[in-house]
Amino acid sequence: MRHEAGVSATAPRLEVKGLTRSFDGRRVVDDVSFQVPAGQVTCLLGPSGCGKSTTLRLIAGVDRQDAGEIRVDGEIIADNQFHQPPERRPIGLMFQDFALFPHLTVAENVAFGLDGPLRRHRDRVHELLSRVDMTRFYEMHPHQLSGGEQQRVALARALAPRPRIMLMDEPFSGLDNRLRDEVRDATLDILREEGASVLLVTHEPDEAMRMADEIALMRGGRIVQRGAPYNIYNAPVDRAAAGFFSDIN
Ligand code: ADP
Ligand code: MG
Repeated sequence: MRHEAGVSATAPRLEVKGLTRSFDGRRVVDDVSFQVPAGQVTCLLGPSGCGKSTTLRLIAGVDRQDAGEIRVDGEIIADNQFHQPPERRPIGLMFQDFALFPHLTVAENVAFGLDGPLRRHRDRVHELLSRVDMTRFYEMHPHQLSGGEQQRVALARALAPRPRIMLMDEPFSGLDNRLRDEVRDATLDILREEGASVLLVTHEPDEAMRMADEIALMRGGRIVQRGAPYNIYNAPVDRAAAGFFSDIN
């Protein structure tokens, strides 16, 4: 990683500048810039196909941008010359279909991303499982758990290595409506307690309103508006943005 003196002390946890990625000559991510301050939740919000997942893949490092730079705590992890490999980035991932390993117990799943055997990590695994209220499931296997319970274990697993940034791509869309609000609120509490900095991708305005400290509104590969949820809700930048928010009550 390259350092620039004086940047790190005040830098946001995650800073994305001018990120651009084309497929077949079409700019799917087009000059995208936003930040995630330490300990906060930024939501990348926009309709299906607008480029949200592609943006996350660039930040995770599983895809490579055509232009732009990505910094964590002021240090460049990707720019035109440099591409830090995904496994070296201080980044955790959680996706909708991010399944638990069926042959491992709940505790083994949570310990999976940590170096060495479970017995070396019992305290951390207990701490995380108690955060997600799942300690009684310690020895069970994923098939014995409901969807919401599996989701909580997946969150504990993603947080176990204490990633500096959590990238979450529509993590709640697999859950039924009845469960979703409850899991969202519980997730937010846990992320706060862990002091996690989160980039949450969603196409649901009410989810962004509920969870974000700041929203970056995306459309056609571009960020069209950034701000606090209620500022965007009350003063949408244009008709399309207003329409997008109009279903929320
Ligand atoms: P979102 O997550 O907002 O729904 P995506 O980032 O998945 O949107 O996709 C944005 C656009 O880029 C879509 O039109 C999608 O078909 C296209 N796209 C994504 N990945 C690729 C790829 N590897 N090759 C070609 N087109 C892609
Ligand atoms: Mg997507």
